[in-house]
Amino acid sequence: MFTDSHAHLDGKRFDADRPEVLARAKQAGVTTILAIGNGDGPGTGTLDCAIQLARQHDGVYATVGVHPHEAALAKQEDFDELGRLARDSKVIAWGEIGLDYFYDHSPRDVQQRVFVQQMEMARATRLPIIIHCRPSDNCDNAWDDLLRLLRERWASSGLRGVLHCFTGSVEHARAALDLGFVISFAGNITYPKAQNIRDAASAVPLDSMFIETDCPYLAPVPHRGQRNEPAYVIETARQVGELRGLSREEVGQQTSQNFIQFFRPTKSG
Ligand SMILES: [Zn+2]
Ligand SMILES: [Zn+2]
Repeated sequence: MFTDSHAHLDGKRFDADRPEVLARAKQAGVTTILAIGNGDGPGTGTLDCAIQLARQHDGVYATVGVHPHEAALAKQEDFDELGRLARDSKVIAWGEIGLDYFYDHSPRDVQQRVFVQQMEMARATRLPIIIHCRPSDNCDNAWDDLLRLLRERWASSGLRGVLHCFTGSVEHARAALDLGFVISFAGNITYPKAQNIRDAASAVPLDSMFIETDCPYLAPVPHRGQRNEPAYVIETARQVGELRGLSREEVGQQTSQNFIQFFRPTKSG
């Protein structure tokens, strides 16, 4: 039993064979998937994409939110729509939201403002948040801002969150764990150069981690370079297991249990 805690199943790259992709996931033992609902961004009519998927497929749950890449496109009407969508019974988290200073597709001050606004909305709807954080090369700028904003604007909510596709240091992971966050590891943990990610996955307690694909991006070895899909989350489980002397099934079981305890996704109307 495995859980893919972060998958982008909407969009063109899965339009031709989505049912087959989900069937392969089931066959591989991936029983639960969190579909990320950023869609193509505000103003594209796709902010409900994950809800649609969750309605059509058993074991699929949904998020809503504006990705930091598209923060500059978000208008008040989009926030109003998100506020409505967040009340759907399939929605179990708000995300992915956060800061991306690597691509800087939206100005950093706008990213921060839209991030804070969505934290306030998540707090109002009592949803945990899924965080995307990517700093500029060889620097901690986005981590510094992220952890400061989480401490100032989220910690008092009493709600939790997930650092998705974790690529930070052991210190960043510890700081997030102190805030009650769970750390989610993606397929890039299998890449030869990603020793920092493996170090973090060795340090994070097994009961505070998820595994994910972030598909269609970041396919793990031995599928690297191909389109990623939920079935490949077993490669991340295998890698985490290698680090900790566990089988991939044991890692799958524990991280699935973590997911259930964290989200209690019984809210499946
Ligand atoms: Zn992300
Ligand atoms: Zn993502």
